[in-house]
Amino acid sequence: QAKEQGGNCYQLYTSAIEEKSYDRLMLEMSLRQALDRNEFILYYQPQVHLQTGKIVAAEALIRWLHPDRGLISPAEFIPLAEETGLIVRLDEWVLQNACEQAKIWQQTGHQLTIAVNLSGLQFNQPGLTQRVIHIIRESQVNPCHVEIELTESALVQNPELAICILRDLKDFSLQLSLDDFGTGYSSLSYLQQFPFDTLKIDRSFVRDLLTSSKNAAIINAIIQLAGQLNLKVIAEGVETREQYDFLRKNHCDLIQGYYFSPPLAVADFEALLSEQRHHSSVVKDL
Ligand code: C2E
Ligand code: MG
Ligand code: MG
Ligand code: MG
Repeated sequence: QAKEQGGNCYQLYTSAIEEKSYDRLMLEMSLRQALDRNEFILYYQPQVHLQTGKIVAAEALIRWLHPDRGLISPAEFIPLAEETGLIVRLDEWVLQNACEQAKIWQQTGHQLTIAVNLSGLQFNQPGLTQRVIHIIRESQVNPCHVEIELTESALVQNPELAICILRDLKDFSLQLSLDDFGTGYSSLSYLQQFPFDTLKIDRSFVRDLLTSSKNAAIINAIIQLAGQLNLKVIAEGVETREQYDFLRKNHCDLIQGYYFSPPLAVADFEALLSEQRHHSSVVKDL
C-alpha cells in the first residue's frame, strides 16, 4: 500500500513538472509571437525632482498587451525572456520606442530624461554598446537625456567586461543608474569602479521607512554616500506623504512612486505633463 502511495506521489510530481514545462513552452512560443506581432507597449512613470516638484524624467516600463489575457506585467515574462535570450530583442525594442517617444516630448518642449532598463544578460552579448549607440543615434535623441538602469547582477558576472561596456556608454554621454540599490551584492567598490551617475534606492527600504528605524538609517546612509560620491540619488516606490516628507527632509534628489503617479500610458503621461505646465509643479502643496 505504501509503495502504491509512493508511486502515486511520484506520478503526481512528474505530471506537475510536465505541466509546468508545457506552460513555459507555450509562454515562450507566445512571447516570440508577441515580438513579431508587436504586442508590447510602454508605460512611463515620472521621476520627480524633490526640490522643484517637477517631472524631470520618465522610466519606460514594458507591458505585454496580450490579445486574450490583457495587460501582463513584466514580472511575469521578463524572467522567461532572460532565460530564452528573447530579452535582447525585447530590450532593444524598448530602447528604440522609448527614445522615439522622448524625442517627441522634447520636440514639444519637455526637457525630459528617458530611463530605460537593460537586463544584465545583455552584458554577455557581443556588440551591445554598438547596438545601443546605433539605436539612440537613429532616434536623434540627445544621449545626455537617456539614462540606462542596470542592476548589480549585470556587473558581478564579469566586472572587467562590465566596466568596459559602461565606460563606452559613458563616452557616448549616456546617464547610468544603479537600480534596486541595496538588495544585491552592493559591494561598495562597485560604486568606485563603475561610472554611475545615479543610485536608485530599492523600494523595499522605502516601504518600511517609517516603521523600521533601521531602514530609515540605511536610506540616510545611502543618501549621504551618494552625496559624498557626487551621485544623484532617487528613491523608488514612494507611496505616502510621510515617505515623501522624510525623503525631502533628508535631501534625496528625486523620487518615483505611486504617491505621484503609477506608470502611465502615453496619453495619460502627457496629460500629467500639461497639468504640470499649467501649475508649474505636480506636488500639490510644495
Ligand atoms: P524596476 O526597474 O525596479 O521598476 C520599478 C517597478 O516598481 C515597476 O514595476 C513599477 O511599476 C513599480 N513601482 C513604481 N512605483 C511603485 C510604488 O509606489 N509601489 C509599488 N509597490 N511599486 C511601484 P513593473 O513595471 O512591474 O516592472 C517590474 C520590473 O520589471 C522592473 O523593476 C524591471 O526590473 C523589469 N522591467 C520592466 N520593464 C523592463 C524592460 O523594458 N526591460 C527589462 N530588462 N526589464 C524591465
Ligand atoms: Mg528600473
Ligand atoms: Mg528598481
Ligand atoms: Mg526592481
